[in-house]
Amino acid sequence: MNLLQQQDPQVWEAIEAEAVRQQDGLEMIASENYTSVAVMQAVGSVLTNKYAEGYPGRRYYGGCQHVDVVENLAIDRAKELFGAEAANVQPHSGSQANAAVYLSCLDVGDTVLGLDLAQGGHLTHGMKLNISGRLYNFISYGVDRENHRLDFDQIASLAKEHKPKLIVAGASAYPREIPHDKFKQIADDVGAKLMVDMAHYAGLVAAGIHNSPVPFADYVTTTTHKTLRGPRSGLIMCKEEHLKLVNRNVFPGTQGGPLMHVVAGKAVCFAEALADDFKVYGKRIIENAQALAETLTATGMRLVSGGTDNHLMLVDVTTAGLGGKKAEAVLDECGITVNMNMIPFDERKPMDPSGIRIGTPALTTRGMGPDEMRRIGGWIDKALRNSDDASVHQSIRGEIKELCDSFPVPAGRAAVAEVVG
Ligand code: PLP
Repeated sequence: MNLLQQQDPQVWEAIEAEAVRQQDGLEMIASENYTSVAVMQAVGSVLTNKYAEGYPGRRYYGGCQHVDVVENLAIDRAKELFGAEAANVQPHSGSQANAAVYLSCLDVGDTVLGLDLAQGGHLTHGMKLNISGRLYNFISYGVDRENHRLDFDQIASLAKEHKPKLIVAGASAYPREIPHDKFKQIADDVGAKLMVDMAHYAGLVAAGIHNSPVPFADYVTTTTHKTLRGPRSGLIMCKEEHLKLVNRNVFPGTQGGPLMHVVAGKAVCFAEALADDFKVYGKRIIENAQALAETLTATGMRLVSGGTDNHLMLVDVTTAGLGGKKAEAVLDECGITVNMNMIPFDERKPMDPSGIRIGTPALTTRGMGPDEMRRIGGWIDKALRNSDDASVHQSIRGEIKELCDSFPVPAGRAAVAEVVG
């Protein structure tokens, strides 16, 4: 019995149940992944006890000699991994990273272009209730109605009309490669700065499979827990000339003490992403997404933009006779976790949209390949077309459990039990 189990059985039980859920089901939320045991160990380390306001060599607390080593390692590895001039590894999350960049280069009321939330953008790209939409004048661009690709004619014309101070590229639900050079051209044409939020595809950039925003953007932000496969956190990279202001706007601008245990987890994650096998993982994510996309298309389901060239796809489940909310619930019953999602020009509501978003990073981390994706595509089709038949869902669940038994979660129950006892 481990200590947590003895001391706090209620919390332990919930964690244990979550570990079982993660092991026994197919995690297909595009923004989720499984970290390594090494990342888990760093995040679960004594560094959680340490205050370290400030930056390496310039702290407001004593006793920072060891956390300085950790933070410098994280900074150096992030710069090496992405070829960036400068990095701040302290943002607690992707949203914090974005807020700090906005504070660095915008005044309240300034105009910014960002991708519409309903067409694949993120809350922090100008959604009205988010701090971004409340403090700044965000104008939304979107995708082309026919091919669902970013509409660069529209982006260029909105940029000319509104003269934004900043253009934000990047997305949460866009199944195609983002051409950063085109954004750079438009930003230069109107004298705007460019921020790329590569949260979703940072792991693909690290693996050299997606073009990198770093040569083009003034600021690159990302989460570290999606395709990048690190701890739940954020990262900012920028040109050297912007670093001083970025640092000041992370601390003390938007945060207090950094989470040094998570910074350590990020350092470990960056080293993992620098290793050769990370390239194999990145390539596999895309092969898997394409195998799944082809399987679903063959069943008659419509995919936004007709397919994918990254780690995710958006499936219009109305083509299987139901809405996104029900599709999410039916798949959950079968042991497949996805999220309902608006599709471009959706006529349904956000709480019951037409689509679901499906991603392959987590299953790729478990070692699954295109053969497994084709099986999973078959189960998704069967489950959605028998959406009211609980016995079909139960039998799929059984088959999924068997598949999952052959692909253990890397830092799952068994591995972590070895570490924590
Ligand atoms: N940016 C993008 C593009 C995202 O998809 C997300 C999260 O889903 C974020 C930022 C925010 O990250 P966090 O949830 O860590 O605040």
